[in-house]
Amino acid sequence: MKRYSAFAVVREALSYHMGWERAWASPEPKKKYDAIIIGAGGHGLATAYYLGKNHGIKNVAVLEKGWLGGGNTGRNTTIIRSNYLQDASAALYEKARSLYETMSQDLNYNVMFSPRGVIMLAQTEHEVRGYKRTAQANALQGVTTEFISPQRVKEIVPIINLDGPRYPVLGGLWQARGGTARHDAVAWGYARACSAMGMDVIQKCEVTSIRQEGGKVVGVSTNRGDIACDKLGIVVAGHSGHVADMAGFRLPIESVSLQALVSEPIKPCMDCVVMANTVHGYMSQSDKGEMVIGGGADGYNNYTQRGSFHHAEETVRALCETFPMVSRLKMLRQWGGIVDMTGDRSPILSKAPLDGVFINCGWGTGGFKAIPGSGWGFAELMARGYSPLTEQFGLDRFKEGRFIDESVAAGVAH
Ligand SMILES: Cc1cc2nc3c(=O)[nH]c(=O)nc-3n(C[C@H](O)[C@H](O)[C@H](O)COP(=O)(O)OP(=O)(O)OC[C@H]3O[C@@H](n4cnc5c(N)ncnc54)[C@H](O)[C@@H]3O)c2cc1C
Repeated sequence: MKRYSAFAVVREALSYHMGWERAWASPEPKKKYDAIIIGAGGHGLATAYYLGKNHGIKNVAVLEKGWLGGGNTGRNTTIIRSNYLQDASAALYEKARSLYETMSQDLNYNVMFSPRGVIMLAQTEHEVRGYKRTAQANALQGVTTEFISPQRVKEIVPIINLDGPRYPVLGGLWQARGGTARHDAVAWGYARACSAMGMDVIQKCEVTSIRQEGGKVVGVSTNRGDIACDKLGIVVAGHSGHVADMAGFRLPIESVSLQALVSEPIKPCMDCVVMANTVHGYMSQSDKGEMVIGGGADGYNNYTQRGSFHHAEETVRALCETFPMVSRLKMLRQWGGIVDMTGDRSPILSKAPLDGVFINCGWGTGGFKAIPGSGWGFAELMARGYSPLTEQFGLDRFKEGRFIDESVAAGVAH
């Protein structure tokens, strides 16, 4: 596969852009693979990539029922941060954040990682205490964050209103190397790199059942025929309960719709990400100038990928308190994605009860930021049966009551 470079852009500009190759192949499924990953979202593709890159397992297929990144990966608000409270989470999310720093070079694909900084606003005394505690935990974990004053918040975000009618800004948890990346470029970059390694990324290929013999997985049935495999990774986010059911086990997750919206494009006005968890709304500005706004999750289980008007209204109303300029903006579009929520708001990266099957899910409202770290650890788990990154995130924690409680860091915002 030809490398992308500045020289390639110049060369193609001089030859009417006729020489670009397809970024990834569209092969027919083979009869058998060493490993199959169900789900071509960011986590599934990253897993395949690190299986090949770190463990030399390249006879791999990634099966996707729709299109690449068409699930939550292409629907999220792209916030990247690693300021979690518990040690196991901080290690996983910081690994991911550090991989984002070099992802464009590693994949030879511009994922537009923009470490513009993330502030989580403290708007109640409870949040002030909570975020100071997180800042101290992060210092011990080697994650660089700091608790900043309202004046410093105002310096970083001049458009903010510190004296909101209900919730004044009392400070914030600031992670200077947090930020955003282009979500679908992350999926495309991994897909291209997988394809270059000889892996098969197969779109419009829905897994309809999981085949087993003698207590071990032997393959899957799909709308394009049966495909055999030695190992199977289930990485399907909001559909995890449904696909786990095919392998005969149940998951402690609930699937709900989470939604987001964007405004009309405006001139640059905010060069960081701001999360206001108490009033519940968060915002960043895209490269096109649109204000990207994250809303709430539905309060009932469902599998819709739509938004609902009352959430859009609530979110915008809440943001108007903290950013009065939002009241003058027209909203362009809104959408939803099906997120998979666990009780402790931490992911599941685990061997499954059926031999040869592994499950990666439960990222809920905040898994985009984790994609490279999750892929790194989950590939190691699939290849070697153990990974220090995923060790704490097994399914057994729900039986043993060994929860990784991230409800403050991950329960509401992203
Ligand atoms: C509105 C919204 C905002 C968000 N904002 C953020 C944010 O700012 N920061 C952040 O870190 N996270 C955010 N998230 C969460 C993040 O998007 C997800 O955690 C992450 O993208 C999950 O990636 P994934 O690869 O596990 O799942 P997905 O990208 O959903 O991929 C799973 C894939 O599996 C496929 N699939 C399902 N069933 C089958 C089957 N039977 N056969 C074959 N394929 C199948 C689906 O079609 C899908 O493409 C947000 C989510 C939403 C919805």
